[in-house]
Amino acid sequence: MSDYKINTKCVQGGYTPGNGEPRQIPIIQSTTFKYTTSEDMGKLFDLEASGYFYTRLQNPTNDMVAAKICDMEGGTAAMLTSSGQAANFYAIFNIANCGDHVVASSTIYGGTYNLFHVTMRKMGIDFTFVSPDCTEEELNAAFKPNTKAVFGETIANPALTVLDIEKFAKAAHAHGVPLVVDNTFATPVNCRPIEWGCDIVTHSTTKYMDGHGAGVGGAIVDSGKFDWLAHADKFPGLCTPDDSYHGITYAEKFGQGGAFITKCTAQLMRDFGSIQSPQNAFLLNLGLESLHVRMPRHCENALAVAKYLKSHPKISFVTYPGLEGDKYYELAQKYMPNGTCGVVSFGFKGGRTAAETFMKHLRLAAIETHVADARTCTLHPASATHRQMNDEELVAAGITPDLVRFSCGIEDEADLIADIEQALAQV
Ligand SMILES: *Cc1c(COP(=O)(O)O)cnc(C)c1O
Repeated sequence: MSDYKINTKCVQGGYTPGNGEPRQIPIIQSTTFKYTTSEDMGKLFDLEASGYFYTRLQNPTNDMVAAKICDMEGGTAAMLTSSGQAANFYAIFNIANCGDHVVASSTIYGGTYNLFHVTMRKMGIDFTFVSPDCTEEELNAAFKPNTKAVFGETIANPALTVLDIEKFAKAAHAHGVPLVVDNTFATPVNCRPIEWGCDIVTHSTTKYMDGHGAGVGGAIVDSGKFDWLAHADKFPGLCTPDDSYHGITYAEKFGQGGAFITKCTAQLMRDFGSIQSPQNAFLLNLGLESLHVRMPRHCENALAVAKYLKSHPKISFVTYPGLEGDKYYELAQKYMPNGTCGVVSFGFKGGRTAAETFMKHLRLAAIETHVADARTCTLHPASATHRQMNDEELVAAGITPDLVRFSCGIEDEADLIADIEQALAQV
């Protein structure tokens, strides 16, 4: 599929049925797989042969969907995980151990920030957070001798900052480590970070990829471009023998294109078991089949909403990287010329009370702790996800008390604006 355009890959990537085989991806709802001899199975356990033996590690349905996402991102290998959280944890923990250090953008998703700043710190992994807008000098100064990766989000949730992928890739590579980019909000329809120098891509497939609020899931894609063996001293897990697999050295046995995902599956999926269910993988694939049709509509609706709000007398600010004049408009034009995402954030001249009143009167847009769904959903972080913070803490976290996050679905733009208009009239 790799010569086809992204629209074709969304529809047909990952699975090509043979003569008389099912047209749709089969759901292999089986925990285990049968073999004729113990020797056959032994080869699988030694990673001497490829095949399935237990769904905690790998499942054929999941692998077909992972292959589609791999193709869409332009990678060499990919895997599904049970959630976006698991994908980001695995992607980092696959190369950073206790005593190691990671450089991350400061405007990442709150769940990922907690994972890094609290939970992975307890595992002995240190993080330095840098502004996505930092200079090259500031970025380079964040590296330490034990740095093993750099992490950022193409479009940050919910900050809506745009990552200068080339700047981050250049710094990562100058220090002999890979750049990991969470591409959840842009999706490979709007941006393929690997084309800009990113080495590992992660996703919360829960968002646009599924797109219908049906299943929580994640994915990791390897570009196959990072030369682990050239930096063997930094990545012993990939470049020295793994005793739990009879002394296999992943980077030698599976090459640059396969080592990262094979190790991630063979060690992390084996030991942590955050596998996606085959049922959910099937639903995810249905979502992927229309991703290229939905993304432009999400972006058109968001741009229309952003433009409407920008000129509204009751609105104090609008943040949308696709809107001319936005702080990230130029970067967005460079990395995502066809559109960014469907999420817009804005604030009210009347402050927190105005935001609360607005939320109360929305009819079509639903209040949810979710984004990137076919149905428009919205959240007032100060009274929901960030309600434990006082106004000063909110401002420090980049979330003003009056900020509303508005995730435009794929409904008719006129209905969305009418809903906003009548809610604003109550403010
Ligand atoms: C939602 C989200 C995650 C976490 O994904 P889950 O599927 O909810 O575990 C990670 N990164 C980004 C950018 C997200 O929006």
